Amino acid sequence: MSMQRILFTFVLGLVVLGAGLVGRAGAKEKAADAEKKRPNIIYIMSDDHAAHALSCYGSKINKTPNLDRLANEGMRFDRCFCTNSLCGPCRAVVLTGKYNHLNGFIDNRASSRFDASQPHVAKMLQKAGYQTAVVGKWHLRCEPTGFDYWNVLPGQGQYYDPVMIEMGKKSKRKGYVTDLITDSALDFIKNRRDPSKPFFLMYHHKAPHRRWEPGPKHLTMYDDQDIPEPPTFNDDYKGRGTAAHSTEMTIEKHLTPNDLKVKPPKDLKGQALKKWKYQRYIKDYLRCVASVDDNVGRLLDYLDKSGLADNTVVFYTSDQGFFLGDHSWFDKRFMYEESLRMPLMVRWPGHVKPGSVSKDMVLNLDLAETFLDLAGVDVPKDMQGRSYKPILEGHAPDDWRKSMYYRYYEFPAVHMVHKQYGVRTDRYKLIYFNELEEWELFDLEKDPHELNSVYDDPAYADVVKELKAELARLKKLYKDDDSVTGPVWKKGDPIRRGNKKKRTVKNAKK
Ligand code: CA
Repeated sequence: MSMQRILFTFVLGLVVLGAGLVGRAGAKEKAADAEKKRPNIIYIMSDDHAAHALSCYGSKINKTPNLDRLANEGMRFDRCFCTNSLCGPCRAVVLTGKYNHLNGFIDNRASSRFDASQPHVAKMLQKAGYQTAVVGKWHLRCEPTGFDYWNVLPGQGQYYDPVMIEMGKKSKRKGYVTDLITDSALDFIKNRRDPSKPFFLMYHHKAPHRRWEPGPKHLTMYDDQDIPEPPTFNDDYKGRGTAAHSTEMTIEKHLTPNDLKVKPPKDLKGQALKKWKYQRYIKDYLRCVASVDDNVGRLLDYLDKSGLADNTVVFYTSDQGFFLGDHSWFDKRFMYEESLRMPLMVRWPGHVKPGSVSKDMVLNLDLAETFLDLAGVDVPKDMQGRSYKPILEGHAPDDWRKSMYYRYYEFPAVHMVHKQYGVRTDRYKLIYFNELEEWELFDLEKDPHELNSVYDDPAYADVVKELKAELARLKKLYKDDDSVTGPVWKKGDPIRRGNKKKRTVKNAKK
């Protein structure tokens, strides 16, 4: 081989090697680019925040300027419903994308535990290369699984100086819970994040859950004003069955001095006492909401400042709705609108049209599927909801759901709301109180406050027939064969109050 030829081969070799290196580096960059394009997902969930206590939903009693940003800069969903209006069960549905009779967490009784060994969305996103984290309220009576970082409250948690469990280690924190949970969310984003990966953060507030303890900044907010009462404040439950008449969640009788923080003035009786209690209750509730609003504002500001906002999808919702004096109640559990409805706003710059509103019916059941879809991960076939990413992008599928299935199990228990299941369509709602064997039907167009069941009205006979068929179809679709019921209560069984032991139904079985 001549010297020239050797030199030529050497140079050619260098060129090929160099091209190979450049090519490899290019592929790596491409992969990094693709990784950058997978959006971060921040799922913000408060606890018991009813849509009618958000100004973007037309609240008549408060303002939520920071939360409203998500509606103004993203999409507001006007028909978002929960499948079981209770804290723990809702969370189990969010994680698994399955109804409670399948994920096993049907109610909040002490014996209920979430089986965290089952597949759920955080595990799936983690496996797909997302860095995953959960901070704040967890409430599933087990340690979180599928999260690279977690820092959660034990059980319901405390408002002031709460204990938090960080990666298995318990410690008492100084401060107000809504601020502390936000500090933790920001700490994850700022300091614990792996910038080479997209992240999935579940940022769960305890507020505004009962016992509604306001933060130090909002203790005197609303002091100088009366909060308007809702139109159904003096509901007498005429036109509805046993369940509405027999709950233990009325403003008048069931708000305790512990809830109200002071004893009511002795001279107050009847309606005057009820009005006084409502003001105490609703002001503390709204003060707690104000703190959530401030803190979500802090998080959104950081996303803006850091440049993360552009490629981060932000969800805001609550684990279900709440009665804000509506029907004379606090709490939730019923399939009635105030309790069934969840607020939901989603911001995704460049994909969701700012200020858009969706009237499509979406559920907490759809969240896991939507997160997976956003991350480009295939949705497992046994998940029961559906991704609404197309709705976010302005292309609602023609075959989107036109009805939803609801089921509540926790009875007998605190607040004594009877077991029920039912179907809601755009216009109607059929509820079956299965242990009472009573039905209610509401025409939401004519009776938006659900004051008069028209179940026995012959004019609605066809509607009843259709809805019963739809209910049966949904039960079959979601594989609910009534084998999961919770403790059985039979008509005529005594329910006693006071002594907890006595209160248990005699023949209750698990
Ligand atoms: Ca809740």
